[in-house]
Amino acid sequence: MSIRDEISRVNERHAAGFTKGDLPMPPARRFAVLTCMDARLDPAKFLGLDEGDAHVIRNAGGLASDDAIRSLVISHWLLGTQEVVVIGHTDCGMLTFTNQQLQAKLADEAGADASSIDFLPFSDLDESVRASLRRISESPLLPGSFTASGFVYDVKSGRLREIA
Ligand SMILES: [Zn+2]
Repeated sequence: MSIRDEISRVNERHAAGFTKGDLPMPPARRFAVLTCMDARLDPAKFLGLDEGDAHVIRNAGGLASDDAIRSLVISHWLLGTQEVVVIGHTDCGMLTFTNQQLQAKLADEAGADASSIDFLPFSDLDESVRASLRRISESPLLPGSFTASGFVYDVKSGRLREIA
């Protein structure tokens, strides 16, 4: 069965029992999560989130990239969130390559010139979370009252560790 058929089948069952169609748009718990796209991370599960609770912004690495900041600005100014939790994780794929390597792969295998693109890989996990926290706190687009805290999720234990 194709992915398309699989998800359609599962979604039919989901919709048949769906009862949360009247939730308001602003997140009820007034916070946002910024984390990695890694398939092993299920933020709703490990943070105890229900539909409507929080914004979950995901990208490769869970980084406060320009686009993540864009989402946070909308999350805060238009939808009322007051803080963000930035969550990196152990064994992150972003620790496994350099810009140069990925640029070379794209050149070799796709004939694409990605030489000017920063894919934002990192070599220090805790520092990557701290750098995202700094970007958020230093952004002129977010107020000082918008607090940011950082964690690392351990993919082996399922446990969060706070980043000081
Ligand atoms: Zn990751």
